[in-house]
Amino acid sequence: MTAVAATRIAIVTGASSGIGAATARGLAAAGYRVVLTARRKDRIEALAAELTDAGHDAMAYALDVTDREAVDTFATAFKKIAVLVNNAGGALGADSIATGDPADWRQMYETNVIGTLNVTQALLPALTASGDGTVVVLSSTAGHGTYEGGGGYVAAKHAEHVLAETLRLEIVGTPVRVIEIAPGMVKTDGFALTRFGGDADKAAKVYAGVAEPLTADDVADTITWAVTRPPHVNIDLLVVRPRAQASNTKVHREL
Ligand code: NAP
Repeated sequence: MTAVAATRIAIVTGASSGIGAATARGLAAAGYRVVLTARRKDRIEALAAELTDAGHDAMAYALDVTDREAVDTFATAFKKIAVLVNNAGGALGADSIATGDPADWRQMYETNVIGTLNVTQALLPALTASGDGTVVVLSSTAGHGTYEGGGGYVAAKHAEHVLAETLRLEIVGTPVRVIEIAPGMVKTDGFALTRFGGDADKAAKVYAGVAEPLTADDVADTITWAVTRPPHVNIDLLVVRPRAQASNTKVHREL
């Protein structure tokens, strides 16, 4: 990849599906040059082509956020970037603490927490150099309260929340703001399917009877809104849930 000079660049991790793909669309429509990253190259290339055909500026770069060497190589292409959306992540399993698989916990920590750390560390100099940088951390309501069977995902999302809070404290005075978006139930193609190892029946039960879970577009709209506030306005934390969900454990279902 050749070095990119423009300052209005927005990088989205996990842009191959769900919230990340919708966010790439939203930020492209808002006028950013979007860089789509994820492991599934075919998907991000297809979306970048679709955005380019629609008159936007978009490119794809295959990247595993847990691979620090690859992240560092990716970061060398950018001298200045305006926005980084740390969206790559997800849940594995819904087991109790008594039965949860430590390998799942480790992988969730690697992807959600170390992945966000890797990309943020690598791109912080370019975000600062832009003179007006924004880091978005896509945590979850699972980062703010627990639920039975949440186990490793709740622990990882709490850590991601703490990463965002700590970073905001540490870089105050620099021209970079840190925005945390914490969605509740969002019906995306991938999230529940990944959580339940591809079991479509189990995945469907997550949303059973819920009139209108949030969509990826709803969350992307929220992210795009927060990012496009004037630079001195920092939306520290925005919790967004569907109306049918009052808390992580209180969901109205019409069954
Ligand atoms: P999704 O459709 O499964 O998307 C997950 C994305 O993360 C994919 O693009 C995936 O791309 C990427 N990803 C996973 N591991 C990666 C890795 N090691 N390196 C790079 N990319 C990786 O799920 P989603 O619902 O849009 O979730 C997006 C984010 O929102 C996650 O952080 C999730 O925890 C959070 N969230 C979701 C919900 C919900 O209810 N859906 C609620 C709150 C928060 P590749 O597989 O192509 O790499």
